[in-house]
Amino acid sequence: MMKTVKFFAVLVILAMTFTSSHAQDNNDWAKDKLDARKALPNVTDSPSRKVPLKSLAPLEKSEGIIRRVNLYDDEIKACALTFDMCELDTVTTGCDMDVINFLREKNIPATLFMGGKWMRTHARRVKQIMTAKNFEIANHNWSHGNCALLSPEGLKAQVLWTQSEYELLREEAGLDDVQPVPSLFRLPYGRSSESAVKTINELGLRVIQWDVAAEAGDNSNIKRAKKSAVRVANMTKPGSILLFHANLVPKGTINLLREVVSILQAKGYEFVKVSELLEMGEPEVTRDGYFTKPGDNRALDKKFGIDGTGRKTRFTGE
Ligand SMILES: [Zn+2]
Repeated sequence: MMKTVKFFAVLVILAMTFTSSHAQDNNDWAKDKLDARKALPNVTDSPSRKVPLKSLAPLEKSEGIIRRVNLYDDEIKACALTFDMCELDTVTTGCDMDVINFLREKNIPATLFMGGKWMRTHARRVKQIMTAKNFEIANHNWSHGNCALLSPEGLKAQVLWTQSEYELLREEAGLDDVQPVPSLFRLPYGRSSESAVKTINELGLRVIQWDVAAEAGDNSNIKRAKKSAVRVANMTKPGSILLFHANLVPKGTINLLREVVSILQAKGYEFVKVSELLEMGEPEVTRDGYFTKPGDNRALDKKFGIDGTGRKTRFTGE
């Protein structure tokens, strides 16, 4: 009798532990005050490992900047939703859990281009995001360095510090089944130079731009977001790569995203990760990174410090 009571007591405790840790897991995804912009301290040190243990083989030839993909099968309507998570050296940004949870709950594949410094600031979120199979994580430079302005050493450090930070967080999370390091890269400000793209390709990363810049201003107003969504959906074609942000810098991204997803799904689109889209066709390549037409983003060169990182002194990777 005593044995049976003990057995049931153990069962009850086990069940309670399971339920509470399970509930905890679900709650962990809920947004909290640490996800807000500037909520976390700004640390400007290098990552604890400056060069990743895993280096990628250089691309066979420098392929330039991929804007979109021309799909082999014109019956297929696929496009890729991408989200930049940018952070300058001088300030911390946020993590848009409304966007992350919307994509996760709807099981929508997406590619997240994270700054390395952003990853370290939001380490708990990155480790969580790594466990969700619908996401793939990609490289968006360490502290948003402008690839057209960085020195060759500075550029290499911006890319490799980010690879290292990802690797460190993957190790901490003990996740052996996710990619060892990112293999896709996005140019901060969409800015580049011929030699920068060559360097990034030599480091084994493919450079992914976009053909649809989704957020044009503030979308906190639902009416406005609905209008913007129609514009975004009209610009989207099979093979498109859409640019959004998930760092709470543009306002109202979640409103725009909901509408865009709903219109595109109604039009018969499926969403795939960028790495999957690349397998489905021939990339359309450009020699210049830009928002909508060549040269239109050069004005940003002078707005964010000496080399895009927000700093007044050069980022050298020292
Ligand atoms: Zn960015």
